[in-house]
Amino acid sequence: MSKYGKEIFIGTTPVVIAFLIYMGVNIVPIVFMTAILGIFFYMSRARGGMGVGGSSERKSRSRPPVYMTFDDIGGQDRAKRELREALDFLIRADDIQRLGIRPLKGILLTGPPGTGKTLLAKAAAHYTNSVFLAASGSEFVEMYVGVGASRIRDLFKEARSRAAKDNKDSAIVFIDEIDVIGGKRDGGQHREYDQTLNQLLTEMDGIHTAQTPRVLVIAATNRKEMLDSALLRPGRFDRQIEVDLPDKKGRLHILRIHAKNKPLAEDVDLEIVARETFQFSGAQLESVMNEAAIYAMREEAEAISQKHLTLAVDKVMLGEKTDRESTQEERERVALHELGHAIAAEVLRPRSVAQVALSPRGKALGYVRHNPQQDQYLYTKEQIEHQIMIALGGAVAEEMFYGSRSTGSRNDFEQALGMVRTMMDAGLTRLGIVDREMATKERLMEENRAILEELTEATRKLLEERRPVFEQSLELLIREETLSGDEFRKLLQQCDKKSIA
Ligand code: ADP
Repeated sequence: MSKYGKEIFIGTTPVVIAFLIYMGVNIVPIVFMTAILGIFFYMSRARGGMGVGGSSERKSRSRPPVYMTFDDIGGQDRAKRELREALDFLIRADDIQRLGIRPLKGILLTGPPGTGKTLLAKAAAHYTNSVFLAASGSEFVEMYVGVGASRIRDLFKEARSRAAKDNKDSAIVFIDEIDVIGGKRDGGQHREYDQTLNQLLTEMDGIHTAQTPRVLVIAATNRKEMLDSALLRPGRFDRQIEVDLPDKKGRLHILRIHAKNKPLAEDVDLEIVARETFQFSGAQLESVMNEAAIYAMREEAEAISQKHLTLAVDKVMLGEKTDRESTQEERERVALHELGHAIAAEVLRPRSVAQVALSPRGKALGYVRHNPQQDQYLYTKEQIEHQIMIALGGAVAEEMFYGSRSTGSRNDFEQALGMVRTMMDAGLTRLGIVDREMATKERLMEENRAILEELTEATRKLLEERRPVFEQSLELLIREETLSGDEFRKLLQQCDKKSIA
C-alpha cells in the first residue's frame, strides 16, 4: 500500500485544491505552509544521505542480514578453532570480568586474498550473536584531512547504535585491507592516514570503557609485515589468526559447499578436482564450480559433469580460451615449445603429463597440463632442479629448432628464477646457508647464472636425445591441437625403443 502512497498523494492533491477553491476557501496560506513543510522534509532526508559517514551508514543498513555460520566455511579448521576460542572471550563476558581478564578488542586475520577472511568475520558475528558492520581500509582514504578519521568515528557510533536498536549485547566491526590505513608510519611526514589510524586506535582503546554494547574489531590483511607496530600492541590486535590457502581436504570441503546448490552428474568426482587445484584459494574454488555450471549450461546439459569441471579448472588457472588467430610459423614454434616442456616433464617425472594443448588461453598460446600430484610443501634439491628443467624445456626446444628463443618464455624464466631464489634461501646452492641480503649482488648473480646454465645444459642434453619425438609429435599436435597424456606417452615410448634398438 505504501508503495503507491506517492501516486495517491499526487492524484488527490489537485482534487482537494480544486474542491477548496470551489468552496471559496482561501488556499494561499495552505499551499505556502505545505511548501515549507515539503522543503524541510526533503532537506532532512538529503542531509541524512550526504553527511559524513551517512553514506556508509546507508550502505551497511541496506545490507541483508548475514547468516553465515562456521559450517558454511570449508577447510580452515585451525583458523576456525582459534577464532572460536577468541570469541568465547566475548561470550563469557561475566567470567572475564570476574577474573579481571583484559577484554579482547581486536582480532587480526592474515592471509592471501580469497581465503575466507570476510566469511570468518561474518560467522563470528553469527556465533556471538552480534551485529555485523563491514568496511574496507580504502573507504577511509580521502584527500581531505580529518574525513577518514570522522568516518571511523561514525562507523563505531553506528555499531553501538545498531546493537542497541537490535537489542544485541555486542557488535563486530570488520575492517578489510587494514594495511591501507594501518601501514607503517614513516615518522616526520604528516599523512592523512595517521589521523585515521589514530582515530581507530582511540576507538579501540575506548571500547572497554563503554560496557554495552561490547565492540570487537576484526581486521583482515594479506600484508601483515606492513602494519604499524602500534596496531599489534597488546590491547589492540593482540590475537592474530593466520588464514592459509586450503589443503586438499579443505579444498574438497569448499568444493562440496559450493556444489550444494548445483546438479552434479554421476561421473563427477570432486576428490580429483580437489587434487588438481593445489594452491587454489577458496574464492578460486568457488569460481571453478561456477564456471563448470556455465559450461554445462552452454552445452544444455542437465547436470555438471567431470568434463565441465576439468574445463573450469583450466579456465580459472589459465584464463578463458581466446580466438586469437596465429600464423602457421607461430603455431609451429608454440608446439615445439610446449613439447619441450612436456618431454622434460615426462622424462623427469614419469606419467606426469595429462595433456599438451595448442589452444590459446589467457595470455598463453599453448600449455601442458600436469596430472595432479600430492600436495607438497617440502621439496628436495633434486625436485626443484627438475622443476626448473621443465620450465626451461620450452626455451631450449625453441633454440634447438630455430637457433633462438622468443618472448614466449618470459613466464617460464620468471618461474625458474623464483625457484633458484627458493634454493638459495633454503641453503641448497654452493653459497651454503646465506641471507640473500648479506651476499653481494655479483656473488648471487654468479651463482644464479651457474645454476641456470648447468640446468639448461642438462635440459638440452635430455631433449636432444629425444629429437625424433619432436619431429613425430609436431605434425600430430598441430593438426589435432591437443594430445592426451597417454597419446603423448605412446609417441615418447616408441622413440625411446627405437633409440635403444
Ligand atoms: P577474503 O576476505 O579472504 O579475501 P572472502 O571471505 O571474501 O575472502 O571470500 C571470497 C569468496 O570466496 C567467498 O564469498 C566464498 O564464495 C569463497 N570462499 C573463500 N574461502 C572459502 C571457504 N573457506 N569456504 C567456502 N567458500 C569460500
